[in-house]
Amino acid sequence: MNNISNFLKKYYYTKILKRNYFRYGSCKKCGACCKNIYIRHKNNVIKSKEEFITLKNNDDYPFWKNLEIIGKDELGVVFKCKLFDEEKSLCKKHKKRPDICRKYPSEEIFKMGAILKEECGYYFKPIESFREILDRISVK
Ligand code: SF4
Ligand code: SF4
Repeated sequence: MNNISNFLKKYYYTKILKRNYFRYGSCKKCGACCKNIYIRHKNNVIKSKEEFITLKNNDDYPFWKNLEIIGKDELGVVFKCKLFDEEKSLCKKHKKRPDICRKYPSEEIFKMGAILKEECGYYFKPIESFREILDRISVK
């Protein structure tokens, strides 16, 4: 990529999309993101089965009806999506999957505290290097 397209890409990501990271890589179709899910509601990760059942019955969250509890750890309740086909390693509703699944992994979910799965074929790199940030600050 030449300097102009680099500049335009950077401008678009930082000024228009307000992003801090570029995403690289591709989906390896491992399904890890469908089998180890935490849910955040009003800034808190769901920590109990009872809390989840109350929220699940709320029609505002239709996607949650696809989730089942598979455990609990220090962060909260862990879910897997019932729409994940273990045999084929595919989403049973791939074409109609919700927006959050289409965009995964996005920078936004990391701002909410999520961590990229170790198996994931994607990775993120800061748009601005440490040197560039220092230069920008020292110019002001
Ligand atoms: S809807 Fe499909 S893509 Fe989304 S978590 Fe469930 S199985 Fe995965
Ligand atoms: S964890 Fe990453 S590589 Fe695996 S299915 Fe999800 S997006 Fe694809």
